[in-house]
Amino acid sequence: MTGKITGISGTTVTVDAKGLKLYERVYAGNSMLTGEVVRIRGDQSVIQVYENTRGLAVGEPVTGTGTPLTARLGPGLLSGIFDGLQRPLQRLSAFMTPLNEEIHALDYSGRWKFHPVKKKDDRVERGDIIGYFEELHIRHPVIFDNEHSGRISWIAEGEIALSNPVAVLEGGAEISGYHEWPVRTPRPYKKKYPPSAPLVTGQRVIDFLFTMTKGGTAILPGGFGTGKTVLEQSIAKFTDVDIVIYAGCGERGNEMAELIEEFKFLQDPWTKKRLMERTIMIVNTSNMPVAAREASIYTAATIAEYYRDMGLHVLLLADSISRWAEALREISSSLEELPGEEGYPTYLNSRLSGFFERAGVVETMSGSTGSLSIILSVSPPGGDLTDPVTQSCLRSTGTFLMLDTSLAHRRHFPAVNWFQSYSLYGEGIPGYFTEKVSTQWVDSQLMCKEILQKEEALKEVVEIVGVEGLQDADRLLMHTAGRIRLEFLCQNAYTDDAFSTPLQTHSKIKHILDFYTDALKKLGQGISLDDILTQTSITTSRHKGE
Ligand code: ADP
Ligand code: MG
Repeated sequence: MTGKITGISGTTVTVDAKGLKLYERVYAGNSMLTGEVVRIRGDQSVIQVYENTRGLAVGEPVTGTGTPLTARLGPGLLSGIFDGLQRPLQRLSAFMTPLNEEIHALDYSGRWKFHPVKKKDDRVERGDIIGYFEELHIRHPVIFDNEHSGRISWIAEGEIALSNPVAVLEGGAEISGYHEWPVRTPRPYKKKYPPSAPLVTGQRVIDFLFTMTKGGTAILPGGFGTGKTVLEQSIAKFTDVDIVIYAGCGERGNEMAELIEEFKFLQDPWTKKRLMERTIMIVNTSNMPVAAREASIYTAATIAEYYRDMGLHVLLLADSISRWAEALREISSSLEELPGEEGYPTYLNSRLSGFFERAGVVETMSGSTGSLSIILSVSPPGGDLTDPVTQSCLRSTGTFLMLDTSLAHRRHFPAVNWFQSYSLYGEGIPGYFTEKVSTQWVDSQLMCKEILQKEEALKEVVEIVGVEGLQDADRLLMHTAGRIRLEFLCQNAYTDDAFSTPLQTHSKIKHILDFYTDALKKLGQGISLDDILTQTSITTSRHKGE
């Protein structure tokens, strides 16, 4: 399907091509810029171009591809760095713009080891696994997806390139080693289960107070400088999942560049493998075309679901969803749609909840269990959490970690506000920690929360009478709460303390809580708080060998 450009306004292009379909992927102009059909009215279609339209002229050709925007799925994605349209950035930068040709998501020249499951003369039907590609520690199944069943006349074995078929059917139909999936369509699964296992992030405040779940969703809203990016990155490094998809969505480019450099050298703390081997990055920084950002989170979700379907635990992180929503708003206003709250399109809410719907624990089509967890940072203007994006997200997420400007000012990081945040996790979670970590996990949690709450109440009293005016028991509580905040809740992302196993997390809080219980007992025996505190600091220094 081809036509000609009749008008250009920014990245919105009108064409006179007949027969285009809504959300069909098109190539616009001589330099083949990628776009999507976003509106059709009679013979005129409107295309949202996802690249810089500088130099594009009226009269240049537009070609429809007949398919929607898709992601290509197969071996060769791990360690990859892609733009929002899944074009690999390393190879993209090797070309000079304009591109004039399509750059494939997967490397077709690289060779991958293929293990056939079927053999010559076997009949295959839709859904059958033909064989596996091996990529690092991951096995990619090649699933037969033709409508009609067939008989295999030839099947590959050993190292092959993706440009070649993995099998040929009688009659000559070739079966390719990769497949495409439309990014806006969630991949199917058999059944969804409620999340029941914790997602261990290595961040004490999260794992202990606001436990996330595998297959759950979380948002980290906070104003500028509250540590959203640092927290998203820490979670990407330390969480106990098989695959991490990190989408840098409209934030600063140098942050992404630094992250990529860092990941090349770091280890996955759980498997000791190179971190990059489990990571895929989607980069759409602030200097890249705004419209592509809108598509980028769907590309990321599709790749994530692809790994979930292999029965793996996958984590999708995006920093920040507000920049995505701004892109949505920009596209909507260029289409002159009726704006909703604060100029966002009226479908903001349904789009976001549709996106969160892609998370979950599922029984995959092949019968295994996989999960997709989604954690998004939200950067509302001025840190005002009543903004439409935060409010929309709130309706669909299980964990809400509010990043607090005043904590960040005091350099309390991660600046998770322990009164405002919450996690609606499933029943099994505390049981998991009780069984695997400590039988006291839940009691410690309650005691920790109680101390922090009492501190808050006492603060008002202290404002009036001063700390000296407090009774010893209350002074002890203030002292303990301070220790919980500084030694336990704070976690410096730039030191070895950046990652804490659940066992380390519990032993750290237990140390503080045991001190508290012990000191309370001593107070009861008539020992003064000052004596208790000097005594403790002497033993602590002795422990450290000073
Ligand atoms: P945001 O993305 O919310 O604007 P950043 O994630 O860029 O904020 O964090 C701002 C700064 O706060 C960082 O450059 C760093 O100095 C500090 N910071 C945030 N989190 C931590 C942490 N866990 N440990 C130490 N410093 C932190
Ligand atoms: Mg940031």
